[in-house]
Amino acid sequence: MKVLTVIGNRPQFVKAAAVSGPLRERHAETLVHTGQHHDDELSTVFVEELGIPRPEVELQIHGGSNTSQTARMLGALEPLLAREQPDVVLVYGDTNTTLAGGLAAAQAGVPVAHVEAGMRSFDRRMPEELNRVLVDHAAHLLLCPSEGAVANLRAERAAGRVELVGDVMVDVALAMQPRARERAVDAPDEPFLLATAHRAGTVDDPERLARLVELLVGMPFPVVLPLHPRTRARLETAGLLARVEEAVDVRPPLGYLDFTALLLRSRAVLTDSGGVQKEAYLAGVPCITLRDTTEWVETLTTGWNVLVDLDAAAAQRALETPPPDERPQLYGDGRAAERVVDALSGFLGVRSA
Ligand code: UDP
Repeated sequence: MKVLTVIGNRPQFVKAAAVSGPLRERHAETLVHTGQHHDDELSTVFVEELGIPRPEVELQIHGGSNTSQTARMLGALEPLLAREQPDVVLVYGDTNTTLAGGLAAAQAGVPVAHVEAGMRSFDRRMPEELNRVLVDHAAHLLLCPSEGAVANLRAERAAGRVELVGDVMVDVALAMQPRARERAVDAPDEPFLLATAHRAGTVDDPERLARLVELLVGMPFPVVLPLHPRTRARLETAGLLARVEEAVDVRPPLGYLDFTALLLRSRAVLTDSGGVQKEAYLAGVPCITLRDTTEWVETLTTGWNVLVDLDAAAAQRALETPPPDERPQLYGDGRAAERVVDALSGFLGVRSA
């Protein structure tokens, strides 16, 4: 069977790293990189470090508004799908790349498989939430990381076949943690916080960006901040970069192993990332989420994550709360990729029978 996988940004490289290997043992895969994240720091380093196959097709589409970027991707994917004639298109997560891949395939009559289906923040102001909902309702095979995701799809009466497979990011995190634990990394000697921020809702509005800066510079521990290019650009435009650099240990975006090595050594994580909330949980590091919603609700109910939005006092209070004793297994056992490939094989087998 021929699988055409569409990826384009950092978390999707991590997810593809789990799936592409086992997938290629049983099916032919064409990997398409849309170019959504094109910088080496957010792209090439992951291909090298995580052993993702080199993409067979690079569309080099980046920049512009969400709408125009998605539209350009759709325009490039249509002739590609006509040429490649895949049996299924595989997409991950909730980005413009996910929506473009899912919609272009569905319009071309090619079945769509969505990994990380059913996640919801129930906040339609987030571009990612729109992408998730739209792709899930265009998809034929909905591969969910948690029971909550399955329940969300049932509640929405999604038409596709729903399967609980676990989270492929967990596969990568569990496989890489031992290496990251051993890795020499430039970390502060004293207890420190690891921070990431890049979502439009956090950094695009100058007033919220200023609140983020005050929150970070006021923390009672040193803060290490691998700075996403989008956030760097917004800080420069707002004239706030110098203030952050004075008080915070600003780094370039890090490769997966260096980032995980810091995460494992940190006292707590401050983030607006989806993936990092999960990875903090898996690392047993308390997470303080700089949003007022999350799709990874299980990390909240287990007491390992707290939503503070950009409230600095709430973040400081969260730091004073000791983490719970228990950390039950969430999002699978590290073998989700195998289940993704099994589910794809089963689905394709039924369709071709
Ligand atoms: N990550 C990384 N280097 C960094 C920051 C994050 O390798 O400097 C990894 C992180 O471990 C996780 C993924 O990037 O696997 C999360 O990506 P991001 O926060 O960009 O996206 P989201 O998960 O919010 O969609």
